[in-house]
Amino acid sequence: MGRLHRARWGHSLEKWIDDELGERRAQCVDAHVEGCEDCAGEVAALLKLKASIRRVRGGAAVPEAVGRLHIEADRLSSQ
Ligand SMILES: [Zn+2]
Repeated sequence: MGRLHRARWGHSLEKWIDDELGERRAQCVDAHVEGCEDCAGEVAALLKLKASIRRVRGGAAVPEAVGRLHIEADRLSSQ
C-alpha cells in the first residue's frame, strides 16, 4: 500500500473493523474496500491479528501469566 493511501485509509480500516465509524463513514470505507485490493488485504491482516490476540487472551497464555503474578504476590506479601 502506498504511504498516502495508507495515511488516508489505514486508520479508518481499523476503526471500521472495530465498528467505531459512523454509518456514513463506514459505508464509504465499505465501498472502498470492495474495490481496493490493498485495503482488502489490510483488513484481512487486521482481522487475523485481532483473532490471534483474542486467542491469546482467551487461551492458556493468560491464566499462566496470572498464576505467575499470584505466586509473585504471595512471595512479596510473605516477606
Ligand atoms: Zn484502498
